Formats: sequence, C-alpha cells, structure tokens
Amino acid sequence: MNRIVVLGSSSGMPDPERACSSILIEAGDKSYLIDAGEGCASSILRHKIDPFKIKQVFITHTHADHCIGIFMLVQMMHLLENKESIEIYLPEEAVFWFENMFDALYLFKEKLSCKFELKPITHDFLFKDENLSLRAHLNRHLMSNKEFISEENLPNKMESYSFGLDLGGERIFYSSDIADLQDIENLIEEADLLFCESTHINVEELLELVKRKKVKKTILTHIPEELEVREDELIKTAKEMEYENLKFAFDGLRINLS
Ligand SMILES: [Zn+2]
Ligand SMILES: [Zn+2]
Repeated sequence: MNRIVVLGSSSGMPDPERACSSILIEAGDKSYLIDAGEGCASSILRHKIDPFKIKQVFITHTHADHCIGIFMLVQMMHLLENKESIEIYLPEEAVFWFENMFDALYLFKEKLSCKFELKPITHDFLFKDENLSLRAHLNRHLMSNKEFISEENLPNKMESYSFGLDLGGERIFYSSDIADLQDIENLIEEADLLFCESTHINVEELLELVKRKKVKKTILTHIPEELEVREDELIKTAKEMEYENLKFAFDGLRINLS
C-alpha cells in the first residue's frame, strides 16, 4: 500500500507545532520527499520514518520554507552513515547556488558517506520510475519579484513549480506555493487528492473550484496562523457546499492510498 506522510505543514512563518513544507511519499520499497523545508530532518525522526528509504527529493522552489532543510537532511544521512545515494531535484536556476552552498557548509560530496546528486527541474520535467511519475508545472508564485530582479539585474529566473503525480493509478496534485488559483485550475480536474497551499489563496474560492473540478479529496497545507483558527468554520462551510472531503494537514498526518 502506498502512503503519504505530512512532515511539515506550516506557512513561511516558523511555527512551534509545525515544520515547514515537506511531504513524504512511501511507495513500493522506496520513499520520495517533496519539498524539504526547515525542520524536515527532525520531522522524519519525530514521525518514525526510515530515512534510508528516501532515494529522491523534489524541491518546488527555493523559498527557505521549501528547501532549507535539504542541508540538514544530507548531514543527517551522512551522520547515520547512509551509503545510499540520493537524487535531489530542484529548479534549474538553483543547482549552481546549491552546489556552492553544500561546499560552504563543508558538506563536501567526495567526503560524505551518503552520495547525493543535484539535478535540474526544467519546464518540461518528468520523473518516472516503477512507482511514481511526477510532472512539473511552472507556476507564477515568484513572478511578483520580476521588476526588482530586472532593476537589480539579478540572475534569478523565478522558477517555481507545482507537481502532478501518478502513484499506482492515483492522481495526486501538489500545488506548492502558487500566485493564485489560476495556476492550478486547469491541472486538477478529477484528481484523487489535492494538496493545496493555503497562504496565497482564498479557501472559499478553492472550495468552489475543487467542487467544480470534481477533486475527490482536498488537504490544505502551508497553513498560516490566521487560517489555523478557522479550521472548524471552513470544514463546516465545505459541508454546507456539499464538499465532504476537505481536511487540514498537520505534521504526522498519514494518508493511506490504494
Ligand atoms: Zn512557502
Ligand atoms: Zn514560496
């Protein structure tokens, strides 16, 4: 049976009860990590996940709450003397910066017990193995920086992705951070499960969208404090709209798939 474990469900703001964005997919005899926000390594231990099974990590964009945990994850793998190799996929623009950052942290590839490789996610990225297919969909989340990047002549390319997954025939969509619902509205039709961020969207509008698109189950994550306190109210609103399958993520939430 395949399974998803939420390792981090907070928004960009650190939270005493939640790690930053990260979910783990267990399929076959492997695990895959999607996003590696701050605290993901300790969350792996807290929720009794076998870190040795993680073979691929996919990072959606390089905001710290989605990627900064990768350094501690690699450090942990090294200290655990994990001899396996890990592929770390991240937006193409960031591969060079991350290579340098690992060196800056004295996590020299050649000296670590665990081997890791940084690989680019490009606009037509598709990962496929015996358990999982994952397609990247460029979104507009980082586009608000366009003017500043251009004025300052910075190399940033504003690469930010949502992921569409097929896991043993189940269609799962991971929005990660988006600019607004337009970024995902044509990608979630009849999805079995939608993980949607809840910081940059309006939840009532999302409910209308998932109902219209016949999304079977929606889990809100990337939860800001102001939304956390509205959980009961929004679950009630969803029921009134005859959408029974809305759930708020929490760290340690386990979702069994077929
Ligand atoms: Zn974020
Ligand atoms: Zn972000």
